[in-house]
Amino acid sequence: MTVTSPLPATEPPRDCPRCPRLVDYRHACRAEFPDWWNAPVPAFGDPAARIAIVGLAPGKHGANRTGRPFTGDYAGDLLFATLAKFGLSEGQYDARADDGLTLRDIIILNSVKCLPPQNKPQPDEIRACRPFLADGVAALPNARTFIALGQIAHQSAVKILGGKLPKARFAHLAEHRMPDGRMLIDSYHCSRYNTNTGRLTAAMFEAVFARALELSRA
Ligand code: SF4
Repeated sequence: MTVTSPLPATEPPRDCPRCPRLVDYRHACRAEFPDWWNAPVPAFGDPAARIAIVGLAPGKHGANRTGRPFTGDYAGDLLFATLAKFGLSEGQYDARADDGLTLRDIIILNSVKCLPPQNKPQPDEIRACRPFLADGVAALPNARTFIALGQIAHQSAVKILGGKLPKARFAHLAEHRMPDGRMLIDSYHCSRYNTNTGRLTAAMFEAVFARALELSRA
């Protein structure tokens, strides 16, 4: 399976050894599902983007299987439908890394690039992967607006963008101005759990992207 990163110089090696628990889980998944990606999932999108999405980590049956962020599980259905609605993608999303979908003026990065058990990375794993996220963000010359999907992504994004966490509290649709003027908008993660429980509706999610577009074009 071939997946090409738009930011190749910032990606970890396929066998990145930094998180022992995640490496063990990677090996277990490779043994059980040899046709899956089962490796750090690279960024996806437009390297000249003005908007960058910071996600949490690959989902087992989504990005960890297909090799492309949010691709192949419920979270991707909502995210890619939303991007299409706002003209931020071209082509048809078909839940496969080779479906030909491209993103326009937006890019997706993850806080943790390897699959964590139960979708829950540990603090040391979030810290270990943060330099890769920081390198990815540093490689985006035009990104002035960031969308954090969930609390963990919010914390990683604030740290990377030079903000202060006690001041920048996570809340859906909260906006945080970073010291250099870059803007961070928070959103509840577009997980099946959040939408099934009503914490996040499609309208609430779309409001985040509408605001991000306003900010990016200001
Ligand atoms: S989560 Fe990041 S730092 Fe940890 S093993 Fe994977 S790529 Fe390496």
